[in-house]
Amino acid sequence: MSIVCAHQYRIYPTKEQADLLTRTFGCARLVYNMALEHWRDAHKAEQRLIPFRELSAMLPTWKGKLPFLKEVSSVPLQQAIRHLNEAIGNFFQKRGKYPSFKSKSGHQSATFMRNAFKIADGDLTLAKMPHPLRVVWSRPLLGHPSTVTITKDPAGRWFASLQFECAHKVVPAPSNAAIGVDVGLIDIAVTSCGKRYKAPRYLSQRLHSLKRAQRALARKKNGSRNREKAKQRVARLHSKVADQRRDFTHKLSTNLIRDNQAIYVEDLDVGPLGRTFLARAIYDAGWGMLRRQLKYKASWYGRSLIKVPKHYPSTRKCSNCGIIGQKKPLPVRTWTCHGCGAEHDRDMNAAINILAAGHAVSACGEVLSPVPEMDRQPS
Ligand SMILES: [Zn+2]
Repeated sequence: MSIVCAHQYRIYPTKEQADLLTRTFGCARLVYNMALEHWRDAHKAEQRLIPFRELSAMLPTWKGKLPFLKEVSSVPLQQAIRHLNEAIGNFFQKRGKYPSFKSKSGHQSATFMRNAFKIADGDLTLAKMPHPLRVVWSRPLLGHPSTVTITKDPAGRWFASLQFECAHKVVPAPSNAAIGVDVGLIDIAVTSCGKRYKAPRYLSQRLHSLKRAQRALARKKNGSRNREKAKQRVARLHSKVADQRRDFTHKLSTNLIRDNQAIYVEDLDVGPLGRTFLARAIYDAGWGMLRRQLKYKASWYGRSLIKVPKHYPSTRKCSNCGIIGQKKPLPVRTWTCHGCGAEHDRDMNAAINILAAGHAVSACGEVLSPVPEMDRQPS
């Protein structure tokens, strides 16, 4: 099985290169929006679904009308239409929202296929660029990339994400170990073997500076140079938090997957919880990200990630005698079983129960939520 993996590298374009890339982003966004408008109109008015080929065939006409589209590489423009086509497909297969127009303030990106970039002697050169980009090759290349996506984040940092088709992944040694994992807010993960991973609070740690930066931003005059600077400061703080959170969850998910053949987790629905007062804490703890990473890493490394049913009373049940006790509100961290008198740590008890329930689930051959083939590494 060949899988697609992506490595991201920091790039430092020169002023001219940044200018060309910014124009490329703009043109790709414009083409995306024109294609979407065209598609929407036809969908609404004629109940007709325009195929990709027809959308893609409009590009020369648009280039005729808007000559500046010819100043940038045409590959990212075609890719923009392809991305729209994927978004439409996702919508109809109920995997995504109805596609919306892209705005200048959102995430900026342009994708170059093999015919629009060159990698030679450690240099990455994009189409229409006379000189190579300055790239920090922080990780070795995994062969010749199939696509290069250039992005600029709101903090003003530039990245090149290179996609590779990998035939094999370095698979860690098989293991017989199984583990139950209870996810929570104070400890993001408590395992049935007694390990605790304290939930990082990167956002809370920076909340003070973030609030100050946001107040400073609010005071700046609209359209001023200082406002732009203040905006970047806020964005930089946000991206620092995001980077730290991603690093932390990557380490945790890799540890759990590497050391265990089966990982059992509770099938918690992060969605609705994310809309409650707990939202920030949950988001800060990075639950959703941890779950996604466990899922694709399990599929990479041939591990099973098995979810125990949502309504399984992992917290209320005594892992010693099996009696199901009262509901336990969140502040209750330790409790004593009224059946056998065992003293329980709330999360550890839950993790042990999840492990037992997971064993039961896999023994019946009843995998409740099989891990679908994930072939892409989200960042
Ligand atoms: Zn008991």
